[in-house]
Amino acid sequence: MPGSRVISVSLKDRSAVILGGRGADLAVWFDTEKKKWVTSGYYPMAKLWRGLQFEPSLKSGRVQWISEAGTENFTKEAAVGSTESLTFPAMVHQTFEVAQFLTEKLKLGEQTHPDLLLISVSSHDLAGHQYGPLSPEMKDMTIKEDRSLGEYLSQLSRRFSDPKKDLWIALTADHGVAPMNVDVIKNHIQGGTIAAKTLESKMNDHLAKNKIGLCAGKPWVEKSNSFHFYFNKNCKSKSPVQRSKALQELSTFLRSQPGVEDVITTEQAEKNNFPYAYESEAKFSYVLELSGDLILIPQPYWVSDDSQNAKHITSFTYDRTVPVIFWGEPFRRTTIKGKVSVLDIAATLSFALGLVPPAHSQGQVIPEAFETNL
Ligand SMILES: [Zn+2]
Repeated sequence: MPGSRVISVSLKDRSAVILGGRGADLAVWFDTEKKKWVTSGYYPMAKLWRGLQFEPSLKSGRVQWISEAGTENFTKEAAVGSTESLTFPAMVHQTFEVAQFLTEKLKLGEQTHPDLLLISVSSHDLAGHQYGPLSPEMKDMTIKEDRSLGEYLSQLSRRFSDPKKDLWIALTADHGVAPMNVDVIKNHIQGGTIAAKTLESKMNDHLAKNKIGLCAGKPWVEKSNSFHFYFNKNCKSKSPVQRSKALQELSTFLRSQPGVEDVITTEQAEKNNFPYAYESEAKFSYVLELSGDLILIPQPYWVSDDSQNAKHITSFTYDRTVPVIFWGEPFRRTTIKGKVSVLDIAATLSFALGLVPPAHSQGQVIPEAFETNL
């Protein structure tokens, strides 16, 4: 909308940049080298941000993370701005401090046209990956995060005489997560662990046994990442027949391994021939230059044994169930029982504002979200 400002804030640069999109007026993130909240000259309001000289309340020294009374006891300490400190609730608080600073300095929401402020709380994600969703750390993070968000929203609503009318909120998350491998075992979840490193050599042994041998003098499978298995680079020039044979052999071999639900090969992907059950998810996440030559889809709750981190690599419910919450005058107090997607947020907010959704928007307006008299 002309005159509207789009501002995004996140600890992680990529979260601030992607959330704001190409048309953002300003995206602000925490530079881990400079230990400062920065932006890029790309944004029209970059000069203005630098002139504002934001100073967080926590600038240097050490920062602590002490668990809430009555929960599992722990204390952590790290240098302010260090990689470890980014996982602390103090950085959630600081993210909202930046949002509050921008709200006040730019008088967000006080002009004729609506402004859009996007906040991504990256410490939740960083700690979630590091400690796992079932950890005492994440329970504690959730309590502290709720408090920081609550404080910010109360400050924000005090700026408006009629907050419900002038302030609309949409809250969501970018992904769910699988439990850590230790939690899968400890909680007797029906699942298991897959040793990707061991599978790499087993795959090469399997090809050797089946007379496919080496590829350009080296083992076919060179590395793996998040259950994507990559052929050594010289295999690209190997005869297509040999390559196709190797892919088929390995696909059959992987399917026979414990915890493997399905396998997608580059050949299948190039022909747009994805397994029916994951068709749309696989299509959206497959990138020719980046995806593996073979992609292993684990059975539910089968996770990698070589990672100490929690991950989200499947399209199972636990990896992609997130909340979608709307608050504000146009929205009804209700719980929608049907399927809603994060893609619907842009379409629904656009509808509430009387606007055409963004050009590439694929979401649907959620009719049940609205007051009936709208
Ligand atoms: Zn994540």
